[in-house]
Amino acid sequence: MSISPILDRENSGVAVSPVDWVNGAPVRIVAITAIQKVRHTMIFDPMYFVFLIPGMAFVMFAQWKVTSTFKKFSNVPTNRKMTGAQVAEEILRSNGIYDVPVERVPGQLSDHYDPRSRTLRLSEPVYGSTSVAAVGVAAHEVGHALQHAQGYAPLKLRSTIVPVANIGNMLGPIMVIAGVLIGLTGLAWLGVIVFAAGTAFALVTLPVEFNASSRAMAQLTNIGVVDRTEYGQARKVLNAAALTYVAGFAAALLNLMYYVLLVTGMGRRNE
Ligand SMILES: [Zn+2]
Repeated sequence: MSISPILDRENSGVAVSPVDWVNGAPVRIVAITAIQKVRHTMIFDPMYFVFLIPGMAFVMFAQWKVTSTFKKFSNVPTNRKMTGAQVAEEILRSNGIYDVPVERVPGQLSDHYDPRSRTLRLSEPVYGSTSVAAVGVAAHEVGHALQHAQGYAPLKLRSTIVPVANIGNMLGPIMVIAGVLIGLTGLAWLGVIVFAAGTAFALVTLPVEFNASSRAMAQLTNIGVVDRTEYGQARKVLNAAALTYVAGFAAALLNLMYYVLLVTGMGRRNE
């Protein structure tokens, strides 16, 4: 059975099934088949547009949204005039945490809490700024430090999945494509499973991020660094940031579904 009508037209009379290669078809045909299969899979497959393009579009929209929201509220100063770094230190202290240093890190939106070194790193536009955006982001990162200090379970789970997820995101797609190309269904399914680890990571990231933001908002109120208006504005910045994680998970899930369909279809084609 042929792979697609496109291959039939371009390759009339030549066997293109991977099964034929296993049975000893010439290498040249395998190469042509491989290239056409990649073209088929990557370009001509309508499922590609159904699953992958919307995911990418969502990710790009969320990136734009967080960048523009951050920029907008970077120009709105808070009345208390505390910098991001001061807010972070104040929240840490008021929660009895004295062993988490607050450092300055280059880049934009590169703010993060590093659980391995127990260090809070704030980007240039956050560290020394007194804007609503800076204060919100700084408090969010402290939210992660509080999660760590209190042994918040989803954060622990997330840290456990990290290495597997990194390998899965890198090797999963290669294994799926290689499996499809050489007709090894087992390898392709293994690729799907490995890739699923990355999707699981994106899923576990959601509660971790939402929780850090709600902790941030509560802490901003506790230390009295924002007024009612500023509270709402900081919330908008953190909501925009959260959307990037939702988009990341949606894209990963769509990608996973695409691979599942690809491998399932591969089994049908080989019958
Ligand atoms: Zn976060």
